[in-house]
Amino acid sequence: MSARILLVEDEEKLARFVELELQYEGYQVTKAFDGRRGLELLSAQPFDLVLLDIMLPEINGMEVLRRLRRTSSVPVIMLTARDAVTDKVAGLDLGADDYVTKPFAIEELLARIRTALRKHTPAQEEDILTAQSVKMDVRRRTVTVGDTPVELTKREFDLLKCLLENKDIVVTREQLLENVWDVHFDGGTNTVDVYIRFLRGKLDDVFGMKLIHTVRGVGYVIKDEDK
Ligand code: CA
Repeated sequence: MSARILLVEDEEKLARFVELELQYEGYQVTKAFDGRRGLELLSAQPFDLVLLDIMLPEINGMEVLRRLRRTSSVPVIMLTARDAVTDKVAGLDLGADDYVTKPFAIEELLARIRTALRKHTPAQEEDILTAQSVKMDVRRRTVTVGDTPVELTKREFDLLKCLLENKDIVVTREQLLENVWDVHFDGGTNTVDVYIRFLRGKLDDVFGMKLIHTVRGVGYVIKDEDK
């Protein structure tokens, strides 16, 4: 299904031009010419991405963004006036994903749209991940070893999933932090080690296997072979 884009822009000629270009690329486009109408549309139907002008009648773009972010994490690309640095900073602070400076080349806008949509589209997940006798059902969020179910916390599950998805590939502590905890840490990677210990306690220790291997100074790897 093609992505649904809401374009909130009061310059009707520009809006029409962008709409045509986006439609040509296969997107479904809905237009709003002022902020109030934009918010109405956003609360009435789902969109995959919002292109949001800042200088808008009724309710300006910053306020639209502020209100939108109370309830929605839909990707938003702000359309800002040239050199309006404070607008860009304020927009990003309020939760915009990106901004494009007017006047923009349509190719640039299209590239930004593709990037924003890609970031928000979860990669196709494998349903079942395995290593040795460990089996993870990603959709049901269950883990079994042989026939025995294993209770994991959400964090432990996500950590194991990340390692299973990268089976036979060493995953660094930083990558694990980024993927499982969704943060960039400058040195707080001890957290990872702690949770690896929890996982080993529930898997390696209980079932007498060597599942999670430490690669000293680098990170961790799960291997299919038990050595
Ligand atoms: Ca405007």
